[in-house]
Amino acid sequence: MQCSGVKHTKPSATKTSRAMQLIVVLQFLVPLAAAFNARRSSLTDCLNAASVPILLTFSPSWQDATKPFNLRLTVNPAVVTIPRTKAEVSPISTEIASGLSGNMVIDMVEFQEVSCDASSTIATVGSGVRLGNMATRLFQLGERGIPHGTCSGVGIGGHATLGGFGLDSRLWGLTLDTVTSIDAVLANGTAVTASSSQNRDLFWALRGAGPGFAVITSFKMKTFPATPVNVNWAYTYVYGTAQKAAKAYSIAQAFGQTSAPKELGYGIMFFPGNQFIVRGVYHGPKANMDRILAPLLAQLTGLNDGKAPKAVVNTQGWIASLTELDGTTLQTSVRGYDKHDTFYAKSISTKESAPLSLTALNSMFTYLYTNPAPPNTIKDEAVEISNPLWARLGYPLVILQKHQLREALCGGIPLAVLGNDEGQEALSLHVLSVHLE
Ligand SMILES: Cc1cc2nc3c(=O)[nH]c(=O)nc-3n(C[C@H](O)[C@H](O)[C@H](O)COP(=O)(O)OP(=O)(O)OC[C@H]3O[C@@H](n4cnc5c(N)ncnc54)[C@H](O)[C@@H]3O)c2cc1C
Repeated sequence: MQCSGVKHTKPSATKTSRAMQLIVVLQFLVPLAAAFNARRSSLTDCLNAASVPILLTFSPSWQDATKPFNLRLTVNPAVVTIPRTKAEVSPISTEIASGLSGNMVIDMVEFQEVSCDASSTIATVGSGVRLGNMATRLFQLGERGIPHGTCSGVGIGGHATLGGFGLDSRLWGLTLDTVTSIDAVLANGTAVTASSSQNRDLFWALRGAGPGFAVITSFKMKTFPATPVNVNWAYTYVYGTAQKAAKAYSIAQAFGQTSAPKELGYGIMFFPGNQFIVRGVYHGPKANMDRILAPLLAQLTGLNDGKAPKAVVNTQGWIASLTELDGTTLQTSVRGYDKHDTFYAKSISTKESAPLSLTALNSMFTYLYTNPAPPNTIKDEAVEISNPLWARLGYPLVILQKHQLREALCGGIPLAVLGNDEGQEALSLHVLSVHLE
């Protein structure tokens, strides 16, 4: 199996043939560029006629508008559109469908509604809202909450159409599970509502493959009473051998499958210095959590020759718990958001009935223990492998160093890429991310 994306080619071409290739390429590109410019001006004419705000390469805010969150990626759109209403999304959609646009970014920043119907407790959330702002507003509107991931800058547009797993997902499900209805604009410019009673096929498709089917303008979502007492907890062990760490991982994994109640969201992280961290959130009183975690911690401590873990445990309200998970602040600026990272990420999934085997875990931890990270690369060159489990399980999360990724992926871990659908067996999703700076 080839894990590296780098291809090595033989330097066989002569100088003459390279020059010929260049001419051929240029001859090919000149008409392409002309056609592209013609298409772009046709597109911008159309968008201007519809009064849709747009940015072009010479616009003063172009750099900011096209700078991706992940700086490892290069984004070179021809135009950025910033629709303000559903009606303005319509001409954008038809331009995309007619193939005139080339690369077009639709910035949904103007779609910022967050409201909650007091009697049904169904929320309406604009597709441009970021998670932290949504959580803050829903709490203000009646102490409601929706399950979602931990980073407040993530947008609901991708999160609610592609999944959305958080430490509250064992309690309430994925973000996507809460969606009851979607307002969207189709490629022919038609504005539609999709739900279990209207446009059912589209509703099914949008929940999992949203970007492929329509531009979503807003979601209707089930909300839940925000849990008033939440315990954010983390226990750190340092096991002397890889075999012990692998065994600890399999114990924590089995605990998720058999004993952990839905109020307990948790995972595993593996940090430099062989720090094996079991951490999560318990939605309820600490005394209950202590009782639930006791058998797990007893096993993990027993494996560590009885040496107690380092503990960090904070009992707090809903908003404070979410803020601690984010690590900085829950609310983010609506315009001018300027947080970035540089990382490689990949998701794979395994069946819930076939979680990571002890053999696979031994292989992974043996590699990690025998290839420690170079000094001073601890925080910034981490690889995260998380496997959030869909149904009743926790989500073990392992953070490795960058140079360890290849081996972790190819070193005998039996990971399969699977699809999921209603009625099928739940899956364990493994998210790998390598932080490069
Ligand atoms: C820092 C960070 C932390 C994360 N943490 C978690 C986590 O804890 N749990 C978890 O489950 N996931 C997590 N993720 C993954 C995240 O949920 C996905 O990357 C998600 O797709 C981001 O959505 P977005 O709208 O912000 O991104 P975008 O890149 O804007 O969109 C992602 C995809 O959705 C499409 N899309 C967005 N809006 C719309 C719309 N209105 N209509 C149609 N299609 C749309 C886009 O075209 C694109 O294909 C994290 C990601 C990051 C970067």
